[in-house]
Amino acid sequence: MLQSAETILDLYELDAEWSEEQRAIVEQVRRYVNNEVLPCIGEHHNNETFPAEIIPTLKQLGLLEAVASGDMDPITYGLVMRELERGSSALRSILSVQGSLVMGAVSMFGSDEHKKTWLPELGTMDKWGCFGLTEPDFGSNPSGMLTRAERVSGGYKISGAKSWITNATKADMAVVWAKLDGKIRAFVVETDRKGFETRDIKGKWSFRSSSTGQLLMDNVEVPESALMEKSTSIGSALKCLNQARYSIVWGVVGAARGCLEETVMYLKERVQFDGKPLASHQLIQNKFAWMAAEITGMELIAKRLGELKAQDQVKPVHVSLAKMNNCRKAIEVARTCRELLGANGIHSEYHVGRRMVDLETVLTYEGTEHIHSLIVGQHLTGIAAYS
Ligand SMILES: Cc1cc2nc3c(=O)[nH]c(=O)nc-3n(C[C@H](O)[C@H](O)[C@H](O)COP(=O)(O)OP(=O)(O)OC[C@H]3O[C@@H](n4cnc5c(N)ncnc54)[C@H](O)[C@@H]3O)c2cc1C
Repeated sequence: MLQSAETILDLYELDAEWSEEQRAIVEQVRRYVNNEVLPCIGEHHNNETFPAEIIPTLKQLGLLEAVASGDMDPITYGLVMRELERGSSALRSILSVQGSLVMGAVSMFGSDEHKKTWLPELGTMDKWGCFGLTEPDFGSNPSGMLTRAERVSGGYKISGAKSWITNATKADMAVVWAKLDGKIRAFVVETDRKGFETRDIKGKWSFRSSSTGQLLMDNVEVPESALMEKSTSIGSALKCLNQARYSIVWGVVGAARGCLEETVMYLKERVQFDGKPLASHQLIQNKFAWMAAEITGMELIAKRLGELKAQDQVKPVHVSLAKMNNCRKAIEVARTCRELLGANGIHSEYHVGRRMVDLETVLTYEGTEHIHSLIVGQHLTGIAAYS
């Protein structure tokens, strides 16, 4: 590894601000990524398999338990996401779906019984959850969803289909968003209930090491206690998504840092023309400088968002601007690095190409770039331009 990569990439000396405790957690996650994730994740990506063997050590890090107990402040959490996504966007996503979307929904909208039943084992990752919002015909506009819940004696019956759901086929429980009396509500549904079927979506060329699937519900009966009483509208789902988007804002900084780190190291070794390393050419250094500036900007946005979050001052427009900007910049950095690695940039021996294609998912899910730009546009103009 490039010995001083962290120092090189930390141009504005942001790391100097982190506490000893934050530094220790970052080190721990970085070690995990270097020793366990990077050696195997490329092969899982190639084979379209879930990296089950690195989950036990991820569990031991106890990250979700720390989040659930309130022991992790937003900046530390962000740094953890940054380090994890330096390894793999798909891996970071596994954690943020479980932590922010599923545990977040249970914590914010669930009953005491939901919390007691699910949070401990979701936190230790001994149980898996998934978050079913998107439908085959309703992605950017989830309010149009067709999934319905109707009251029956002793509970509810749910019917509908959800698509592109992370961990669908792994999950023990699903947070299912459905219309009840015309209002969007959340239900906790065990995935072994009669009428509940899951199917893997195969053939993805992005997020290949993440499990993505469909939830198919045909008159699935759940008890009255399955309803998350405090979920009242699509706004409740958006609250969970905003926490998950915070993970993305930091995570993609890590993916971009990983790309630049690998590319600088490669081009300092790779020699073309007059026996000189490619890193000594002006055009190459110009690209390095541009990427370093973008990554610094992304990190400053993430840090400011974390500060607002710590003060409970985050507005949706803050999250949208950060998600839109950081994902776009990260993918531009990854594409530039891919190009700078020449032919090796398309080979799985290097991580840049995988990071680049995984970032295509991150650009799209949890609100596409267009949708977040419309939220920023509405803030600037007072005009809602979604429809
Ligand atoms: C790997 C992966 C994992 C995912 N995991 C989950 C999950 O766990 N749970 C879950 O619920 N969902 C999940 N999703 C779904 C994801 O959130 C949706 O794909 C996303 O919201 C976009 O919806 P869509 O794919 O239907 O695109 P569409 O909404 O069909 O959009 C297509 C294009 O049209 C653009 N567009 C849409 N509306 C407008 C407009 N008004 N103005 C201008 N442009 C517009 C979009 O920006 C996009 O470019 C996942 C997706 C992927 C790829």
